[in-house]
Amino acid sequence: MTERKLNLNTLKRCLNQDPNLASISPDMKCNIFKTLFITSGCDYISYFSGHGKATFIEVFCQNAQFICGTEMEGCLSETGSQDKHKGFLAFLRLVGCLYFKKHWSSFATQHSCETPRQLFESVLAETVKKRHEMWINMIREIVSERILSEEERIPSTSALERHWNRTCWVSQFWQNAVSQDVKVGLPLPEESGWMCQEDGCYAIGWDSIELQERVKGTVEFLTKGCSCKKSKCITSQCSCRKQQKNCGPACKCMDCGNNNGHVENSRVDQSEDDTYSDEDHREDENVNNYYSDDDESGSESDNCYVTSEVVVDFDVMMDIDED
Ligand SMILES: [Zn+2]
Ligand SMILES: [Zn+2]
Ligand SMILES: [Zn+2]
Repeated sequence: MTERKLNLNTLKRCLNQDPNLASISPDMKCNIFKTLFITSGCDYISYFSGHGKATFIEVFCQNAQFICGTEMEGCLSETGSQDKHKGFLAFLRLVGCLYFKKHWSSFATQHSCETPRQLFESVLAETVKKRHEMWINMIREIVSERILSEEERIPSTSALERHWNRTCWVSQFWQNAVSQDVKVGLPLPEESGWMCQEDGCYAIGWDSIELQERVKGTVEFLTKGCSCKKSKCITSQCSCRKQQKNCGPACKCMDCGNNNGHVENSRVDQSEDDTYSDEDHREDENVNNYYSDDDESGSESDNCYVTSEVVVDFDVMMDIDED
C-alpha cells in the first residue's frame, strides 16, 4: 500500500489564498474544513448517499459566501455546545446546496433559480430557522420528483439535526485528542444523535421515534389493505375502518364507503367523477408539460403517478444530472 502524505502547512496556505474562500475569516477556515471532513462521513457517522467528500468540498467552495459568509447567521466552524445551534443553520445551507447542485436543471426550469442563494432569498419566514427549513423543504420536493430510490432523498430536518449533533460531537472529540482528558466538555452520545443499545453499544439514531412511526404507518397504509366485498367498508368488519383509517391504494374492496369521497375512475362514468377537482387537472397538465421535454423515451404517462403530494415519473427519474 502506498503511503499518502499531506503537507498541512501547504494546505493551510492554499486555503488562505483560494479566491472562492476570500469572504471567510482565516481563523475559521481550518475548522470549517474539519467539519466538512467529518460531516461528509467518517468512522463515527454516516455519509450522504451519492455525495462524496470531493463533492462536499467543491459545493462548499462554490457557495462559501452563502454557507459561511459573515452576512449569514451561523458558520460550519460553530460546533461547540454553546453555538452548534447556529452552526446547524450553515449545515442546512450546505446540505441544500449539495442537492441543489445535483438537480440543478429542475430548479432552473421550475423556479427560474440558478443558485441556491436565489431560491433562499425568495423564501420569507418569521424566524431564521423556519426560513432554512422552508428552503430545504422546497429543495426536498423538487428532489423527490426526480429520484429513483429512497436513499437519494434529502433526510428530514430532524434527521439532519441528529447528523449535525453527531458531527459536533466528533469535532469536539478530535479537538480533545491533545488534551489530558478526551471527555472534557463532551456531551453524552445519547444526547448527540446516537442510541445506546441493550448490549451497551451505540447505534446511529436516524430520526425521531414519532417520524419513524409515521413512516411505518404510511408504508403499512400503502402496502396493506382490506378486501371487503359487501360491507362497503362502513362497518368494523373492515380492517381499515376498524383502525380508523381510510381505505388506501392496496385495498381490494368494492363500492368502498371509507375513502374520503374518492371514487375509483375505473368504476364510474367520467361525468360522475366530481371528486377530481379542476385544480387536480391543472396540476396533471403541468406535470405532463414539464416532463414532456425531458422524456427521451417518448412513452406516454403510463408510469406517471400523481397525488396531491408526490409526483413520481419513473422515466424522468433515470435522467438525473451526474455533474
Ligand atoms: Zn374494507
Ligand atoms: Zn380498506
Ligand atoms: Zn374500502
